[in-house]
Amino acid sequence: MNAVTVRVPAKVNLQLGVGPLRDDGYHDLVNVFHAVSLFDEVTVVPGELSVAVEGASIEGVPATPDNLAGRAARLLAEHLGVEPEVAITIRKEIPVAGGMAGGSADAAAALLACDALWEANLPFATLMELAGTLGSDVPFALLGGTALGLGRGEKLTPLPCSGEFHWVFALADGGLSTPAVYAECDRIRAAHSERVSWPHESPALLAALAEGDAEALGAALANDLQPAALTLRPSLQRTLTAGRDFGALGSLVSGSGPTCAFLAADATHALDLAVALGGVGVARTLVRASGPVPGATLL
Ligand code: ATP
Repeated sequence: MNAVTVRVPAKVNLQLGVGPLRDDGYHDLVNVFHAVSLFDEVTVVPGELSVAVEGASIEGVPATPDNLAGRAARLLAEHLGVEPEVAITIRKEIPVAGGMAGGSADAAAALLACDALWEANLPFATLMELAGTLGSDVPFALLGGTALGLGRGEKLTPLPCSGEFHWVFALADGGLSTPAVYAECDRIRAAHSERVSWPHESPALLAALAEGDAEALGAALANDLQPAALTLRPSLQRTLTAGRDFGALGSLVSGSGPTCAFLAADATHALDLAVALGGVGVARTLVRASGPVPGATLL
């Protein structure tokens, strides 16, 4: 095989419940992942291990084998007992450090692409296991759709989801570091002597997904990292307020931010919302996307 290209979606967390800090430094999460039609493409060809990155906003993405996609290729090669001889090109559309798991998506895409390039045809369950060792969000990028993630987010169960949901994403200038946002979340909780209880999936949210009820879903969106993201980037409050003022059914910071997600009633409403938000200068760029979409897919 000469070249393999995989398309991989971004995610938005419809619910991100963050439990108490564990002894290993992670938090137990209740994470409802939703894959949306904002894609990176990863192409692999035989060659010396290298990573090239293309796209309009790729600042901070390493163009070296240290890139998460390069690490995924090395991990798979090690698992198969072959040399990681692969030149990787990433075409990025998913915002960098935007809370939409772009790096994890590229790692998942590289796993799937190299599996095909090296004609390994590993079972999906094995790819999912390898994905889990690369990072908590990597297995979901392989799986796609809508899923509940427990543990660090890597223990996944697909969730029933009817119809299509329409989203507007407000991309911000610059990213937010995920570890910094979790640390800020811990700091805020400690400062308020908050007793952090065990998070549970929201029955209202799961019902809204199953019924394809956008209005109910909008009301049930929740992200425990949002206060921390807002403390670190106060300007996001204006973005969220503008979305609500313009009639979004729901709005929240995506994952660790700074991307903000707005749920629209339908495709036309999403276009109106994007135009309105674009007019008030609360985001670097506005993009529309729908979900759920499949996970990493060979093209
Ligand atoms: P998450 O939503 O999983 O918390 P994120 O979307 O906020 O992650 P990423 O875009 O995955 O953040 O990038 C975080 C950091 O990882 C980047 O700033 C960059 O230094 C590094 N990185 C390594 N490989 C990649 C990649 N392929 N794409 C983007 N960032 C990468």
